[in-house]
Amino acid sequence: MDLIKPFIEKVLYPEMEKRRGNHIRDYTKELIEHEALNGGEFDALRRRKLSALLTVCAEHVPAYRGKIDPILAKEKPEEALKKLAPLTKKSFMEAPDSYLNENVKKENLIANRTGGSTSEPVHFYLDRKTVEYFEAARWRALSWYGITPGSRSVMVWGSPIELSRMEDRRHTLEEKYLKNRIVIPAYALIPESVPRYVKTIEKYRPEYIYGYSSVLFALSTLIIKQNLRPGIRLKAVVSTSETLYDFQREAIKNAFSCPVVNEYGARDGGILAYECPEGPMHVSAENAILEVVDPCTYEPLETGRTGLLLVTDLNNVSMPRLRYALGDMAALCGESCPCGRGMPLLKELSGRVDDMFVAKDGRLIHGHAFNHVARNLTAIAKFQIRQISPERAVLRYVLSENAAQDEVQTFLDGVSNILAGSEIEMIRVSEIPPDKSGKFRYAIREFDLY
Ligand SMILES: [Zn+2]
Repeated sequence: MDLIKPFIEKVLYPEMEKRRGNHIRDYTKELIEHEALNGGEFDALRRRKLSALLTVCAEHVPAYRGKIDPILAKEKPEEALKKLAPLTKKSFMEAPDSYLNENVKKENLIANRTGGSTSEPVHFYLDRKTVEYFEAARWRALSWYGITPGSRSVMVWGSPIELSRMEDRRHTLEEKYLKNRIVIPAYALIPESVPRYVKTIEKYRPEYIYGYSSVLFALSTLIIKQNLRPGIRLKAVVSTSETLYDFQREAIKNAFSCPVVNEYGARDGGILAYECPEGPMHVSAENAILEVVDPCTYEPLETGRTGLLLVTDLNNVSMPRLRYALGDMAALCGESCPCGRGMPLLKELSGRVDDMFVAKDGRLIHGHAFNHVARNLTAIAKFQIRQISPERAVLRYVLSENAAQDEVQTFLDGVSNILAGSEIEMIRVSEIPPDKSGKFRYAIREFDLY
């Protein structure tokens, strides 16, 4: 019997609330209550929060001083927000301290940084309230699947940097008894370790499994291949940090026979959207305003069109970043979800803007295009394409056992067609390692977009 769950929920959380003023459960309750709000009520709530945020920025944040009309911020905050230029990671990193609210002390804030797997890490600060609202957004969404803060979980993690910290004994004990979870180190997953991992999962009996989509996919593929599907009933497998492709979702579902849930979160953006049991992704609308703009001109795009996502966190008044470009491509959706929850929907998450390729004629091509070619070709076990310039790319690919030559040719021809006119160096290799953060990227552009 799982005794840690009632300990966490009945002892640990109340204690954290009493001693440290932790509000995660209050915020979660508040967010769950908001599910009953309709579109207009959501807008009004967000408008109030945005107006307060913009007023703080105008008065106390050096980077925004003189850039926000205080009257417009009070009366029409959405318009005041849209007048600001989007904030890129690059421009934020030029003067990060100018985004600090003068009324807060840095030492009272929580220092954080992005993983920096593809570019230089971004260092930034969050306040407790913001972090607790991030957590609350996750717990609200997981409650749709019957998962609560004490629910037992297995984390399938791929980052060797984070793993070295996680393998520390004290950390392992904390994870086990204070978070009710264990970690399976799935970096450089090898087929021989899969029976042991499956046994661990069966013995530990988690309510859900959590991990990077590429790592969950790799594990699921090996489970299916070795016919080792765990004999336990899970409430969900939650995929995070990366785009969850349909083929990955199918494999994970096949291996674990439970709902596969897409979490859209970012280290510097929080939990921004979560998949509903009905399918669509609900935006954590009380926590953030999401906008979609053209990735080259920054002009706003109409609802439904895919572009660069801008995020304005509504809680972080300590280090506000308005219209911040996380680097993700997405589309918003104007429709409502059959579940009846009022939070707006994300129509599509299309990966990183860094994954966009530039054709020789200047067209932008999404890295998905290469996945589409490989999708039904069992001959192609793995591939990675790097675009060096609009004229040149390097494709590395791994073949499955007994790969059919005509399928290989279909793949190579398909890639050539997508990048018509470019010179593509094609190299067959025996393995393609994940990057140093443990993530695996299929398509990488190595030069700036504009
Ligand atoms: Zn829904």
